[in-house]
Amino acid sequence: NRFSAPNGPSSPSKSNGSVDGPTKPGKSSSLQEQRRALPIALGREKLIAKIRQNDVIVLLGETGSGKTTQVPQYILESGIAGTRMVAVTQPRRVAATSLAARVAAEQNVKVGAAVGYSVRFDERSGPDTRIKYLTDGMIVRELLSDPLLSRYSVIIVDEAHERTLRTDLLLASLKGIQKYRSQPSDAKGKGRASLLNPLKIVVMSATLDAEKFSKFFDNAPIEYIQGRQHPVQIFHSAESQSDYLAAALRVFFQVHTDQGPGDVLIFLPGQDDIESLEKSIRLYANKLPHKSMEVVICPMYAAQAAGQNSKVFNAAPPNTRKCILATNIAETSITIPGVKYVIDTGKCKEKQYLARETGGGFDTLLTKDITKSSANQRAGRAGREGSGVCFRLYTEAAYNNMAVSADPEIRRCSLTSSVLQLKCLGQDFQELDFMDKPDYDSVVSAYKSLWLFGALNNSKELTPTGRQMAAFPLDPCYARIVLASKEYNCAPEIVEIVSVLSASSKLFVDVSDQRDSAAELRRKFRHPTGDHLTILGVVKAYQEIALAENKAGRREWCRKHFLNERALLEARDIRDQLKQTCARFGISFDEGVRADNNNDDAVLKALAHGLVQNSALLQPDGVTYKQTMGHTTVKIHPSSALSDRKHPAIIFNELVYTNQVYARGVSSIPKSFFLSIPTLNQRHS
Ligand code: ADP
Ligand code: MG
Repeated sequence: NRFSAPNGPSSPSKSNGSVDGPTKPGKSSSLQEQRRALPIALGREKLIAKIRQNDVIVLLGETGSGKTTQVPQYILESGIAGTRMVAVTQPRRVAATSLAARVAAEQNVKVGAAVGYSVRFDERSGPDTRIKYLTDGMIVRELLSDPLLSRYSVIIVDEAHERTLRTDLLLASLKGIQKYRSQPSDAKGKGRASLLNPLKIVVMSATLDAEKFSKFFDNAPIEYIQGRQHPVQIFHSAESQSDYLAAALRVFFQVHTDQGPGDVLIFLPGQDDIESLEKSIRLYANKLPHKSMEVVICPMYAAQAAGQNSKVFNAAPPNTRKCILATNIAETSITIPGVKYVIDTGKCKEKQYLARETGGGFDTLLTKDITKSSANQRAGRAGREGSGVCFRLYTEAAYNNMAVSADPEIRRCSLTSSVLQLKCLGQDFQELDFMDKPDYDSVVSAYKSLWLFGALNNSKELTPTGRQMAAFPLDPCYARIVLASKEYNCAPEIVEIVSVLSASSKLFVDVSDQRDSAAELRRKFRHPTGDHLTILGVVKAYQEIALAENKAGRREWCRKHFLNERALLEARDIRDQLKQTCARFGISFDEGVRADNNNDDAVLKALAHGLVQNSALLQPDGVTYKQTMGHTTVKIHPSSALSDRKHPAIIFNELVYTNQVYARGVSSIPKSFFLSIPTLNQRHS
């Protein structure tokens, strides 16, 4: 037996007997029944009254009790929202899009009508929209054009316990906005402000740290929703597992062959692991004897396009078992019906900012052990509809050693983009009242990056360049590159490259199992300067194919070249949006303006402007590179199009930490290109 004895039901486990059936897709009448059966429905009137009476409430309730889908509808249906909108913020884009789809169905409208969403590069809302699901990043961005969020009468800050940087930034801003909007109208003076109505705030969370939010909002009342949690038996692995994917595969088939009906939810750190486990489960499932249950695999991760994972909510057909492969998105943001078994690898990916190590304003995603709070949430997902079982692929001792909960992102992420956004609102990051204060080092590092980009001058004041950078829905370094492309007359090329880099799916399909044939096919796109111009070559080749071939032909071409067409399509949409922002700043897309066809140097120069902190110089050993603005020694990632030849200087998109530090997304540039960067040249005032 690989697992030690069960440690009994997880606590707290209250079973009140009522089990809601699996969610069936169907008519809105059955949807209304489902709505009424949710735990939150019992306290509906009391909740509405509380929201009516208070400017801020904190709402706590177990995952799946109906907070995210119902509270906005209650607010709308009870008239609390008046004529303005209700915003519901989510840390992840898939959560925003899939919840909007669900609530639109419950309201019997199309997404984009009364119920809409807004996530980066994808907006579905219109003049009739009353409930809008947005990522926390998008609402912070809306502050730039509407600093008082005047279009909203209620803002629901959901999944507040995740403490993302954007959520913390929003909470801090909301405090000031609410105060301003609740002043008597004559105190606000003339103009727009006098037309504003007061703002209501609902902070929602699935975990128990509600006190902190309540304190932050002057002891706002806390409301609890009685959940329905059935007992979950938890098994720990008897010894620690060195290969969590192999362990997950083994346990899945143990469950599949030995256990009764019920879907399986497997928690994995990221998309790569999800894709690789999906492949192996498929492979083995095909070898099972004919009489065994069929397996339907449903991947679920943040980079999925809207609607791509909708099958996860459909009940499995008879004699099939759904196997959901999810990141921590399924921990609290999205409740999947039918789950009885949870397999928890104990790993997650976490944004981590390495200020000291990298010297630059860049985040990396690191695979890390989860916290106790996550482990308990994951186990809880097995007990929503009846008693369940959770298999932890780590030992009980490992569980006991886990941190209680994660550090808020503000303490471990790059602050560059937030500092810039606040500057545009005329605020300084340090002056804002945050729930947790950021690290002094990270703040300094953010200011340094912005100064290097020319977004701030020597007196830390916002420059016109900085204001323009903030207008782009891009990472500040990519925004800087786009602006630089104006100077070097290469906007068409740069915008194509930046669009691919900003897409949520990867352009190149993972080919670790067929490396040779893929290398052969990809060689023809390979550009001698490296990955950035290689990407451009792929995009151009695809555009030519797109003119000549129909949909099936395009898809086949991508498959043959191990390219992810979704990334190309997403990049195309992003490019079209970026072009609109470019037009505002007179950035020309007229290809005719350049005399020669070879714009490679111009492209690399523009890239260097944004990637100045992500640059490294060849060391005497001829293999490793030392960062120009940090102390890390890096190697070029094996996936790079850049040859093994020696390159005096490189720029790169990101660092990857495995057994050693690799630079990924690399181009070789002449050292002299750094001299064209004003801040490195003190030409900057
Ligand atoms: P909470 O926010 O309290 O965790 P939710 O409001 O997200 O709860 O979920 C309430 C119910 O709605 C759950 O039973 C969930 O399965 C269902 N649900 C949510 N989104 C969808 C969707 N896109 N399709 C089908 N059912 C959904
Ligand atoms: Mg929710």
